[in-house]
Amino acid sequence: MEECIFCKIVEGEIPSLKVYEDNNCIAFLDINPCSPGHTIVIPRRHYPLLTDMPDDLVKDIFAAVSLISRAVQSVTNAQGLTVGTNVGKAAGQEVPHVHIHIIPRFEGDKGAAIQHIVRMPVNKEELPGYADKIRSAIGKFPSPKEEEKKEAPKEKGKKPKWYFSNE
Ligand code: 5GP
Ligand code: ZN
Repeated sequence: MEECIFCKIVEGEIPSLKVYEDNNCIAFLDINPCSPGHTIVIPRRHYPLLTDMPDDLVKDIFAAVSLISRAVQSVTNAQGLTVGTNVGKAAGQEVPHVHIHIIPRFEGDKGAAIQHIVRMPVNKEELPGYADKIRSAIGKFPSPKEEEKKEAPKEKGKKPKWYFSNE
């Protein structure tokens, strides 16, 4: 995955201000922080999207996010945190290697709550229909198993696998 900047950070090929590492993930400071202590947590292994990851790894990474969040908040004296991940380009994801942002929040920091970053009109009468459809879709899209995510051999003319899958 030599094209991916976060894979290069995992491999130590480019420097980062690393704050945590374990068998599955590493965390480092964002190079362009939006508040002091802005930290990124990533799986060591390359997955473009959170929804591409096996469930077990999602559990591990969010346990690490919680652990690191407490340290970040304590050190920065933040009054709160925004913790989240952009999933796909439409959501603002620029680096196609899963990463969870831990953003220290302060009164008057001019930020917003995550539910206010999108403004689409929604017909509330349609909500029960969405709830029904989502309920019955659950379980039809299980997380990928580790063995399905093994590296495919590089095929000539094909875009590298680290690109978003819908490109
Ligand atoms: P995204 O929009 O994909 O969720 O955010 C990517 C984040 O990665 C941005 O906040 C950006 O500042 C950070 N970033 C991009 N390249 C690097 C890098 O080489 N090193 C570090 N430490 N952070 C990076
Ligand atoms: Zn990567």
